[in-house]
Amino acid sequence: MAARDGNGWVQCRCGSRHWGLFGAAGLLLHRPGPAQGEVLMQLRAPWVHQGGTWAAPGGAADSHEDAVTAALREAEEEAGVSPARVEVLGLLTSVDHGDWAYHVVLARSGAHDLAVAGNCESEEMRWVALESVARLPLHPAFAASWPTVRSTLVRLLAAQA
Ligand SMILES: [Zn+2]
Repeated sequence: MAARDGNGWVQCRCGSRHWGLFGAAGLLLHRPGPAQGEVLMQLRAPWVHQGGTWAAPGGAADSHEDAVTAALREAEEEAGVSPARVEVLGLLTSVDHGDWAYHVVLARSGAHDLAVAGNCESEEMRWVALESVARLPLHPAFAASWPTVRSTLVRLLAAQA
């Protein structure tokens, strides 16, 4: 298996550079809670790109991975989330620049007590009420996609109920 061959920068036609030679993926994991429940958010360590901001855990996909595989691996590495306790509901391409794309894997966990623990790329992992996410200092790309991501998640959860 090719190990971590996706780590690297892409100089994108949009004029920016993005992390992940084969694109990147994140896991937006929902669990039951008051109101609309909670999602798992990561405060990115100060030394990573756009550090000090909040986003769903995620990172660069490797050449042999699809978005779901990459997102689940990153969430396990960064947050200790066991893939066996995650039910994938859907997939959303939140950024597509042609040269680079970011995919959000929408998922749920029934486990109220799901343990999370960050690695060195995480300053903190926290379950955040869905309605409070927008009040965090978000990663700019995550913030831009959040209204669409949130409404898609709510629709998928309602379809499961
Ligand atoms: Zn771009």
